[in-house]
Amino acid sequence: MNILACDQPMVVAIYCGESKPPLQEFLPEFVTELNEILETGIQVSQIRVKVKIRYFVCDTPARSFIKGTVGFNAKHGCIKCTVTGEYDKDERHMSFSKVDCPLRTDESFRRALDEDHHKEESSLIKLPIYMVEDIIIADSLHLFATYLLGR
Ligand SMILES: [Zn+2]
Repeated sequence: MNILACDQPMVVAIYCGESKPPLQEFLPEFVTELNEILETGIQVSQIRVKVKIRYFVCDTPARSFIKGTVGFNAKHGCIKCTVTGEYDKDERHMSFSKVDCPLRTDESFRRALDEDHHKEESSLIKLPIYMVEDIIIADSLHLFATYLLGR
């Protein structure tokens, strides 16, 4: 099987609607198909090409959505560690003041050890990826907010 380097992100799906699609309606089918592609590769012209997942790029709300986790501004919203936020009702913001909390790991994510971080089980855990490191955020608005609110 050949390996072709592709540095361009690939759009997997685009959804349009008045609300987010139910996670359980589209993600399991995607994961099943992607696992087949990872195992067998894809045919491009006469060449069988091996496919590898480098990482998922999402904005912050989309990342939480596909991972089945709470949002970045929830008490257990930090994607990197198990810090618990404190909500200030007067100022209407969440603060994460501790900096030495245990880090999230692929294993702790898959086992949903921090129950308050997980809203539902995501089919993405069936993929050969690291659930903490391989799903990154890339929007400056939420990166800035994450930087301010957590580590
Ligand atoms: Zn953190």
